[in-house]
Amino acid sequence: MNPLRVAIVGFGKIARDQHVPAISATDGVELVAVASRNASLPGIPHAPTLDELLRSGPPVDAVALCTPPQVRQAQAATALAAGKHVMLEKPPGATVAEITPLATAAQVARRTLFATWHSRFAPAVEPARKLLAGRKISSVRITWKEDVRVWHPGQAWIFEAGGLGVFDPGINALSILTRILPQPLFVTSAELAFPANRDAPIAAKLALSDAQGLSIAAEFDFRQTGPQSWDIEIETDGGPVTLSFGGAKLRAGDRQLVDAPDAEYAGLYRRFRDLAAAGESDVDLAPLQLVADAFLLGRRRTVEPFEDKA
Ligand code: NAP
Repeated sequence: MNPLRVAIVGFGKIARDQHVPAISATDGVELVAVASRNASLPGIPHAPTLDELLRSGPPVDAVALCTPPQVRQAQAATALAAGKHVMLEKPPGATVAEITPLATAAQVARRTLFATWHSRFAPAVEPARKLLAGRKISSVRITWKEDVRVWHPGQAWIFEAGGLGVFDPGINALSILTRILPQPLFVTSAELAFPANRDAPIAAKLALSDAQGLSIAAEFDFRQTGPQSWDIEIETDGGPVTLSFGGAKLRAGDRQLVDAPDAEYAGLYRRFRDLAAAGESDVDLAPLQLVADAFLLGRRRTVEPFEDKA
C-alpha cells in the first residue's frame, strides 16, 4: 500500500520534537511537506500557509495540525474540504462545539478526523486501564505541575483566550483519567487562578465525580520549579495504584508494573495511518468537555501577573 503522505501545519515545538521523528519511525507514513509562516525543514517542500500548500504544494493525503488550538478549526475545515485526512493536536479545538461539524464533514467526505490525545498512548495507560477494570476505586488524586517557562517558552498563545493556560498540560491528565475510568465523569467544583495580565489560568484545582460519588481531586499548576509532577494516584480495594511521569510508569502497591520509554507519537501515527486506511475517525471530546465545564463552574481568583522571563 502507498504510504500516507502527511504535511505538518504549524512547525513549532511539538512538530519538531515529536511529529518529525515519529513520522520517520512509522511504516506507511511519509512527511512530504511543511506549512508554517516562519519555519521550515531543510529538504522538505515548504509553504507559508495551509491554503498555499493546498494550492501549489506537492500532493498530500493528510495534514497534521500542530498550530495553537485557536486557529485549528478553520484549518481542519479547509483541509477536509480539500479531501485530506486530518490529525488534530490536543486539545482538538478552542471550543467543544466547533469539533462536531468537523466530524460530520469528515464522515461526509469519507476522510479521517483524528482528535489525538497523546498521553493516552503512554506505555502505562492501557495496563492501568486493564488493572483498574477489576478493582473498586475509592478515590483519585491528580497532581500535574510543571514549569511553563521550561515547557512552553515564548508561547504567548497559551495564555491568550482559547489557549487553555494550565489546562494545556492538565488536559493530558484528564485524557488519561477518562481513558482508565470508563464511566462518565463530571466536574463538581473548580478554582481557577488567572494572572492579572493574562486571559487563561496559570493554576487550577478541580473536584470531579461520577454517578456513584467517586472523589477525584486534581491540581494543575504552571508555576512549578524543581521536580515536575505528572502523577495520578488511585486508591483501590486492592491497594494503591500510581501512574507517574505522565503515564510512563505504573506502580501497584510495591510492584513496579511498567517503566517504559516514551513512544506516544509513534503510537499516534500508527493509529492515524490505520484510521485513514479504514476511512474512519476517532474523536473523543470528554477531556475537552471537562475543561470547558471547569471554566463554566470555576471560581476565578486573580493572582500576580505572569511574565515569560523569570
Ligand atoms: P508552538 O511551539 O507555539 O508551535 C505552534 C506553531 O504554530 C508556531 O510555531 C507557529 O509557526 C504556528 N502558529 C502560531 N500561531 C499561529 C496562528 N495564529 N496561525 C497560524 N499558525 C500559527 O506550540 P507547540 O508547543 O508546538 O504546541 C502546538 C500544539 O501542540 C498545542 O495545541 C499544544 O497543546 C500541542 N502539544 C504541545 C506539546 C509541547 O510539549 N509543546 C506537547 C503535546 C502537544 P509559524 O509562526 O511558523 O506559522
